[in-house]
Amino acid sequence: MTSNDTPHPTDPDCLFCKIVAGDSPATIVASTDQAVAFKDINPQAPLHVLVVPRAHHGDIAQLAAADPDLLAGVVALADEIASEQADGQFRLIFNSGPRAGQSVFHVHGHVIGGKELGWTPA
Ligand code: ADP
Repeated sequence: MTSNDTPHPTDPDCLFCKIVAGDSPATIVASTDQAVAFKDINPQAPLHVLVVPRAHHGDIAQLAAADPDLLAGVVALADEIASEQADGQFRLIFNSGPRAGQSVFHVHGHVIGGKELGWTPA
């Protein structure tokens, strides 16, 4: 499942690992040594960017348990993007599990903003 020829664990079958590696197209908006942000292909708001760790972790709980500093890096990148594109105001959503709507099993935060956001999502 993982390979050792990169500095972080990856899954060769994972779409978001391929985007991080530059092997699948995406509109990258920002990146750090820890995380990458790219536009969602099906945007739900004027700002809708996905922030993902470079390392492959399945969901937010797995990431938090394995590497809390990396999770903090993902959140910091989300805040940076929202500061630049949405006056620093944003919603950060991590769907976790199929019943919560997760369809790509490489943890990703949806950074949503740029308009008045309604509530609730459930
Ligand atoms: P859902 O698909 O129900 O929104 P997730 O929380 O797993 O579940 O989100 C996956 C997100 O990834 C979706 O918003 C989808 O539009 C986005 N997406 C899928 N493929 C790509 C891609 N190649 N480039 C950018 N975004 C993508």
